[in-house]
Amino acid sequence: MDPFASPHNLDKQLLALLGEASSNLCDWLSDSGSQGPIPDSFDLPEVSPSKEGVSNKVLLKELNLLMNGAYRPSHPGALAHLDPPPLSASIVGELICAGLNNNLLAQELSPSFSSLERKLCKWFCEKLGLGDLSGGVAASGGSLSNLMALVMARNITGLESDPSAVFFASDDCHVSLSKAVRIMGLTQDSFKKIPTDEKGKLNVSCLYSIFKKIKSEGKKCFAVVATAGTTVRGAIDPLAEIAEFCQKENIWLHVDGAIGGIYGLSTTTSELLKGIGSADSITVNPQKLLGIAKTSSLLLVADKNNLSSTFSTGLPYAEPLLENEFHGGELGIQGTRSAESLKLWIGLRQLGEEGIEKILLESIKRRCYLESIIDPLNFEIISGPLHLLALSPKNQSPSKASCWSKETRNFLLKNKFMLSRPMYGDRYYLKAVMGNPNTKFEDLKQLAYLLNNSII
Ligand SMILES: *Cc1c(COP(=O)(O)O)cnc(C)c1O
Repeated sequence: MDPFASPHNLDKQLLALLGEASSNLCDWLSDSGSQGPIPDSFDLPEVSPSKEGVSNKVLLKELNLLMNGAYRPSHPGALAHLDPPPLSASIVGELICAGLNNNLLAQELSPSFSSLERKLCKWFCEKLGLGDLSGGVAASGGSLSNLMALVMARNITGLESDPSAVFFASDDCHVSLSKAVRIMGLTQDSFKKIPTDEKGKLNVSCLYSIFKKIKSEGKKCFAVVATAGTTVRGAIDPLAEIAEFCQKENIWLHVDGAIGGIYGLSTTTSELLKGIGSADSITVNPQKLLGIAKTSSLLLVADKNNLSSTFSTGLPYAEPLLENEFHGGELGIQGTRSAESLKLWIGLRQLGEEGIEKILLESIKRRCYLESIIDPLNFEIISGPLHLLALSPKNQSPSKASCWSKETRNFLLKNKFMLSRPMYGDRYYLKAVMGNPNTKFEDLKQLAYLLNNSII
């Protein structure tokens, strides 16, 4: 078989290969319910290429081995992380994206997709209330979006060569910010953590007092990062109050909405994000709840010129664009990028406004339901307004909570429920993420029964 499709004739072998692979994938998806979220064991195929290439039949067989060892996000008990099953249209988007193999680096390598990405980012910006100058860029994951935001904030505020400049985020912020500190050549001392309140939200009066102290030490601040949807409990920092602080002190506001930003797409849930439109930049990860196939993250900015003035170096090997227009590769850290906006666009088109709203609302409903049927006498439950919930036994030492979390996680896995086991404060919790549309109330009843009986 010619390993490349003919540009002149219909490639029947490719057609057959795609057909069989698609059929195997559909079987795998439909079989997920009868398996567990993760396999008990798996075999790997031969890893290194053999002397002669193998046949399609062998390829498909080897592929099956890997599929059998894969995590199954479609299983109704797959509730551990922010990894929902993929939307059907988004699977197709990913396939077509690979087939077209365009490159977002430069307009000439992705004519329609460069335009699509700009327009789609603009649509997100408008939904979240960013103004007329807004725009954005896609990135391979929220960690990268957050890094680009911090680099941009430091650059635009003119503090890129001030080693004492600091930024703020809450104690419950995402670990990607600590990575950004290392990459940006900052010291951990530049990263000022602000305590959270009892609901896991950044405490704004602490922000004021810590900022005052920093200022009195003669240090400058280049950003505040507010989290819209924290990773363990889904808390949303008080965005409007933080925005007011940032406006008053003239500081860049980045909202890490990797989890919660998506709730801004529906007017029924956008209330939760009041104030987000005042941000200078926002991270949104459609991969985390909407079911856009990984990876799908956007960095949205209030003034799109800030992206180009931070990252544009000129692309001497690509045709120049009109003045004030930039190639994708000049808007962020990544050079070559796939046309990820294709699977996002097609997923959103498949869902429609009603489908999007349904996913958002039902995720919250499932969390509320589970919360209502867990025994409040035996458990401390921490959650926010979104679709995440974590719990730990009441009145137990951290070491007992640790044993409980380990044993119960394994016990639940045997019963085909997968929860995660984050450390929060001084102890371990079990965390359930209600982003899986295949999880029904009946499943949650069963889960609550198992949890309620896990303490004797
Ligand atoms: C998941 C997450 C990120 C990082 O996103 P990746 O796509 O995993 O890189 C950043 N911030 C928050 C709050 C997250 O939950």
